[in-house]
Amino acid sequence: MKMEQTLPVLMALAENRGIRVKIVPFKAHNGFWRVKDGVETIFLGEHLNMDPEKKAFIFAHELGHAVLHSDRKNFDMALYWENNMDNEYARSKESEANIFAKGLLLGSGIGMKFGA
Ligand SMILES: [Zn+2]
Repeated sequence: MKMEQTLPVLMALAENRGIRVKIVPFKAHNGFWRVKDGVETIFLGEHLNMDPEKKAFIFAHELGHAVLHSDRKNFDMALYWENNMDNEYARSKESEANIFAKGLLLGSGIGMKFGA
């Protein structure tokens, strides 16, 4: 999909899955996906509004956690470990979410810029 379509499409995908999306001020990270009391929420850092491409990648990455890792109920630590890849388990989950995001954003040029 084209760059300008990405955020509206990602928002529609989240809504269709019943996932809430909240924009919040973060200091240490870009976003995370949380399941708490049966409610799924994707939190995205307010600072990402300055960088729509990065915002789209983080959004798609967190959707990846929601789609791929939804067996983990009440798991609220699915953080975007941008610089925290020191744990084998976290590394594999983060890698899966990045691969999902790159696939979802294919054609936009965004997937090539972010995520290892
Ligand atoms: Zn992640």
